[in-house]
Amino acid sequence: MDTTNNTEGVIREWGDTKRFNSQSARLKEKFGGRVQKVSISADFTCPNRDGSLGKGGCTFCNNDSFTPSYTRISTSITEQLNAGLKFQKKRYKRTAMFVGYFQSYTNTYGSLDKIKNIYDEALSHPDIKGLVIGTRPDVTTDEQLDYLEELAKEYYIDLEFGIESTNDSILESINRGHDYASSVDAINRATGRGFDVGGHMILGLPGESRQEILNQVHEINKLPLDTIKFHQLLIVKNTAMAKQYGETPEIFDLFSKDEYIDFVIDFLERLRPDMTVQRLTSEAPPAIKIAPDWGLLRIGPIQQLIEDRMEERDTWQGRLFKT
Ligand code: SF4
Repeated sequence: MDTTNNTEGVIREWGDTKRFNSQSARLKEKFGGRVQKVSISADFTCPNRDGSLGKGGCTFCNNDSFTPSYTRISTSITEQLNAGLKFQKKRYKRTAMFVGYFQSYTNTYGSLDKIKNIYDEALSHPDIKGLVIGTRPDVTTDEQLDYLEELAKEYYIDLEFGIESTNDSILESINRGHDYASSVDAINRATGRGFDVGGHMILGLPGESRQEILNQVHEINKLPLDTIKFHQLLIVKNTAMAKQYGETPEIFDLFSKDEYIDFVIDFLERLRPDMTVQRLTSEAPPAIKIAPDWGLLRIGPIQQLIEDRMEERDTWQGRLFKT
């Protein structure tokens, strides 16, 4: 166990060599090997698209930017899992456990019966030992959480809420359709039920200064989150934000690769050390990505650059964390 003291008295106590508290390392330790996600697109939409809250969706959202081609809702969940597992088993030979990953759209948006049918089909696959579920905070009900609590007695469950920003005026400007208080409420209701509760943030939304983004870490630290995922803003085709970027590029302050690497480290230095980090960056298929242009670097190499820069700066998650 690494127990490096720092000047603030915070101790690094996660058990691998990384300078941040990696969720994949934590799961590896817990389950004795790599835990690999297999993406699934289920028959969900979201209230920000079907008219309940709005029709346009969040201004940055194009689900094609993170939906693998083997997940098509015209095929069943079992078929998607079979296709995904075939691919993942070849690629990741030393995987201890596969989990289904409901990433696209809002995966708790529907009746309890509907989500039960969908999750139960995924969990009935013999190779699937858990679920990672991405959703909005404002549509997750207590009865759904009770059901997930039951599932968590037998399976690994990770429920991830899109927070995106702690700043209500920014949430409004990206047409998110919920405020930060909704995230606080959902995360509090989901906590203490035997499954992981995660949050997702986008760094660099238009209208937020670098200092304002950095200040948000103090709000995030107050949440009882187990895990956090953040990434740079990506502008992709067929979104309201792509149009906005074309018309008023001056309101965007997109991160260059180098700026982002240092910024995300600044963020990590202030992040609560016990919160595990799911992801530090993101990518979109070149065919739909508009900006920023970081070349063809993919998530793995960028993450490595972040880790190398942490080494150079001799810093780590939580170094500047204050209670
Ligand atoms: S980001 Fe999520 S909530 Fe927003 S429009 Fe896309 S699917 Fe809907």
